[in-house]
Amino acid sequence: MQLYNTLSAEERAQLIDEAGKERLTLSFYAYAKIEDPKKFRDDLFIAWNALDALGRIYVATEGINAQMSVPAENFEAFRDTLEAYDFMKGIRLNVAVEQDNHSFLKLTIKVRNKIVADGLNDETFDVTNKGIHLKAQEFNNMLEDPNTIVVDFRNHYESEVGHFEGAITPDVENFRESLPIINEQLQDYKEDKNLLMYCTGGIRCEKASAYFKHQGFKNVYQLEGGIIEYTRQIKEENIESKFIGKNFVFDHRLGERITDDIISQCHQCGKPCDNHTNCANDACHLLFIQCDECKAKMENCCSTECLETIHLPWEEQVARRKGLQVGNKIFRKGKSDALKFKQSGDLSTLTLAKATKAKTNDVRQKIKVKKTLIGKAEHYFTKSKIAQFLIENNGLAVGDKVLISGPTTGEQQITITELFANGISTETAKVGDQITFVLPFRVRLSDKLYKIL
Ligand SMILES: [Zn+2]
Ligand SMILES: [Zn+2]
Repeated sequence: MQLYNTLSAEERAQLIDEAGKERLTLSFYAYAKIEDPKKFRDDLFIAWNALDALGRIYVATEGINAQMSVPAENFEAFRDTLEAYDFMKGIRLNVAVEQDNHSFLKLTIKVRNKIVADGLNDETFDVTNKGIHLKAQEFNNMLEDPNTIVVDFRNHYESEVGHFEGAITPDVENFRESLPIINEQLQDYKEDKNLLMYCTGGIRCEKASAYFKHQGFKNVYQLEGGIIEYTRQIKEENIESKFIGKNFVFDHRLGERITDDIISQCHQCGKPCDNHTNCANDACHLLFIQCDECKAKMENCCSTECLETIHLPWEEQVARRKGLQVGNKIFRKGKSDALKFKQSGDLSTLTLAKATKAKTNDVRQKIKVKKTLIGKAEHYFTKSKIAQFLIENNGLAVGDKVLISGPTTGEQQITITELFANGISTETAKVGDQITFVLPFRVRLSDKLYKIL
């Protein structure tokens, strides 16, 4: 029986594109007593794999926390797989506002000690003594109360691109860190103030509210279903959004626009921007905010070091990476000295710019460059990392900058340093030539080759 992924992310993306069917990005969680998490995990994998459901899911003895992409046509069947469990009967599924068929490309279900890493010892307080759940309108009303303190329980890089008006935004990189900081900061307000809390989908507040009540806070409230459900309600009921900017999400989209206000800056040039991206240097992969101009200029890199690295031959990049700990840096979320405009500490909701309509729909950032079509991909030799293209227009020469583009490949830029035409090393190639060159990533049949002008 298949209990793990057999397809790579690239292969999956290609299948999804070929199927051409709509998928829904959604999330849900449930706290419950799970006797055998391993068996629960395997049962879910078998049921969901059959429905072509993908995502990142954590299960533990305390419950389940899932972020997923499900084919729209299988949505009801998927819901049935949840309703089969008593503790998930009538469960609310947070469906994303903006859809992207590539939000998840694998089905990964992991058994963990906890479904959220909160660093709390659940034995020391009553986890069921939670805060009062508020709907969008109730949350708005409480925000207007001068006696309210509102705290953003997400990480700093998430709050940076969007948060509620007047929220305290702890300068933390993970949820675990934020609990003691907030407790310390609000010592004097335990008795009389309303402690109003929110997070992305509501799960973090489920534990945090109980923890703060245990710490002596008398009036604890939480946004039911988090920002995702809040957004759904304000749209459906035509309520004013008190959330400003973008809601950061943990899938390939990296953010859903809630209002057209841009409240953050490009970390490289400081211009108004709220598009997160990962550094193109695979050995870095730093998450940071980058505008389209800096993206084009820096070729999606976070620093000149990374820019230099991606132009090295692939073998040398791999050799340099040996012994380096890559994983940790991925979650350093924009904390790099190379980034001059990274904000820290309290954030304002001052609107620096307005997002244009086109950008709202352009979920994944595209590099906008002047280019001319040269030809299409014919083959990729995986072992030798050599790509083969057929030239159909113009020509190509050593030193040319090219852009390779396709649904799976995305948009990748490289400079041609060595070129073969019909198997012979050459400086230039013309229409009709079958060219090959070393390429550090795999290309797909019919990927387009452009020369950058
Ligand atoms: Zn910039
Ligand atoms: Zn980098």
